[in-house]
Formats: sequence, C-alpha cells, structure tokens
Amino acid sequence: MQKIDRVLVTGAGGFIGHHLVKRLKAEGKWVRGVDIKAPEYEPTVADEFKLLDLRRWENCLLACDKIDQVYNLAADMGGIGYITAYLADIAHNNTLINAHMLEASRARGVRRFLYSSSACVYAGYKQKNADVTPLKEEDAYPADPEPGYGWEKLYAEELCRYYWKDYKFETRIVRFHNVYGPLGTYDGGKEKSPAAISRKVALARDGGEIEVWGDGEQTRSYMYIDDCVEGLIRLMRSDYHEPLNLGTDRLVTINQLVDLVCQIAGKTVGKRHDLTKPQGVRGRNSDNTRLFQVLGWQPSVPLETGLATTYRWIEAELVRQSSQMRRSVA
Ligand code: NAD
Repeated sequence: MQKIDRVLVTGAGGFIGHHLVKRLKAEGKWVRGVDIKAPEYEPTVADEFKLLDLRRWENCLLACDKIDQVYNLAADMGGIGYITAYLADIAHNNTLINAHMLEASRARGVRRFLYSSSACVYAGYKQKNADVTPLKEEDAYPADPEPGYGWEKLYAEELCRYYWKDYKFETRIVRFHNVYGPLGTYDGGKEKSPAAISRKVALARDGGEIEVWGDGEQTRSYMYIDDCVEGLIRLMRSDYHEPLNLGTDRLVTINQLVDLVCQIAGKTVGKRHDLTKPQGVRGRNSDNTRLFQVLGWQPSVPLETGLATTYRWIEAELVRQSSQMRRSVA
C-alpha cells in the first residue's frame, strides 16, 4: 500500500495557509494545520488543527511530530501600514518562529521544509522608480531589504541555505510577490492593497470618493491565490534549494488597481491621495525567468479575473457583517 504523506502547514489559520490546506486535502494528503488562531472565515479541512504559539521551541517540536513535509507559512505580517509600524515585534516574533521551526523540523526527521519569504527582501535602492526593472533573485544583494520584516525574511532565507549546506536538510525558499484572493484579511489594519481597495470601493457610494495611500503612482505586481498554491506545491516537489520568485510580472500602479476594482464594482469613485501614509518602495515587479526555468510554469490568472472574485467575496462579507450588526443591535 502506498504511504500517504503527512504534511504540516504552519500559519494554517491565515490566508495562504488555509487555501494550501484545502488543496493538499484535495490531493489526498494527511494534513496538520498549526496556528495561534483558527481560520477566520470558514472552518479548516485539516485532519488535525493545533492552536500553538510557534515562537516557543517545545510547540515547534509538537507541531513537527511524525511529519514528512513542512510548509512554514506562519508569520507576524500585514500590509505596508502594519509592517512599517511594528519593526521590533515583527522581527522578534518571526526570528523565533523560523529558527525554531527549521531546527525542530530537522530534529524530528522531516524530509522537506518550505520557507515562505517575500519580495520585501529586495534591495530598496533597486526599487526607486515606478517603472522598475523586474527583480531577479540575485537583486536581493548587496542587501538593503525592508526594515524589520524584510531583514528577518532575508536572514531566514540564509538560515535555510545553511541547513542545506551543513546538514543536507531539504529546504525550499519561495519569495512571494503580493498574493490576493478571497478569504484574506480585508480590514483591521493587516490587510494588503487589493483587499483594502476592494473594501473601500465596496463601502463607497457610486460617485463618492476613497482614500488612496501615497500618490497612487507606486507600482506592484499581484498574484491570485490559486496560482500561489500551485507554485508552492510545484516548488516543494522540485529539487531547487535557492530562493525563487513566485509572482506575476504584470506591473500596475495603485491608481490602476483602484480603477480596475471600480470597473468590477460598476461604480465611479474619486481618489483622495494621502501623501502622509506609508507607500513602501516606489516600484516592484517579479522577474520570472528563473521561476519558469525551474518549474516550467508561471502564474496565469489574469488580474481582472482574480480581482473580480476577490471583490465579490469582500462585498458579500461586508453585507454579512452589517446584517449581523443590525441583528445584534435589534
Ligand atoms: P496571514 O497573516 O494571513 O497568515 C500568517 C499566519 O501566521 C496567521 O494566521 C497568524 O496567526 C500565524 N501566526 C503568526 N504568529 C504565529 C505564531 N507565533 N505561532 C503560530 N502562528 C502564528 O499571512 P499570509 O498572507 O497567509 O502569509 C503567509 C506567509 O507568506 C507569511 O510567511 C508571509 O510573510 C508570506 N508572504 C505573504 C505575502 C502575501 O502577499 N500574502 C507576501 C509575501 C510573503
């Protein structure tokens, strides 16, 4: 009889982790999800879900018990407002999670370990123009990453590389570029730009106005969650140990993103630019040359399609929230 892989997803109460658990279950894997919180918007389908604080070594050992593969997605993270406000907490929390999870996985005899890094590792001096040259993996050096969150991610990438070099521990390192989709945080301060803009447009009246952070001419590329999960599974299966971009290479300004969401919503909404708000680097895009070489694949869901699904989900959530509030007041 073929042995079923036992897979651990950390951060399984979060956006990407929750989607990944669903996909792994659909593929017939046995899945343990771990997080400090349960998924917010629908129940997990994991075979086992443990509430554990992975900053603690003994909890990492528990999480990794009798596990073949680890997708380590747990992190203290959020959008640009959040990651620029809490440098010490984010760096401290994520350092503990990543150092302990890597060593606990090795100590427990895990066969493969995937670490989720970020495009925030890329050097700031290469992202000064909105019309940015897409970033190749080697553009992370000489290092000048995002303070706090980005420095920690870059260091944890190096740690994974050392574990491969010194112990031949099978590590994979993915650098996500802005992942969006349904079941992701859309309010409360940790939301990222596609979700924040969708929420603002959904709440605005036709002919009204929304606040946009910065002048809106900063650029990014966005990847739909289904592509993200597909890329993760392909990378885990591969034998590639170096950091790899996972994103799309379609560059859009934040203003264009707002216009797209307005089109989807069927609303005309003005933009009130707030230049005092954090906007991150001026431009960031993914060079997918290596991604394609290594995986023979790259993300393909068009932004319009992914955003439409995301917007409809957030709109429905807001309706559900407000009817719940009306019921609790009545
Ligand atoms: P998310 O915030 O939705 O999920 C992260 C999860 O980690 C949360 O559910 C959180 O509760 C959990 N967590 C935090 N501290 C923990 C702790 N001490 N112990 C256990 N669990 C803890 O974020 P996401 O978008 O799903 O991101 C997943 C991973 O991908 C993270 O490592 C993140 O840094 C990385 N990433 C995401 C994006 C993106 O666009 N979403 C971009 C770059 C990198």
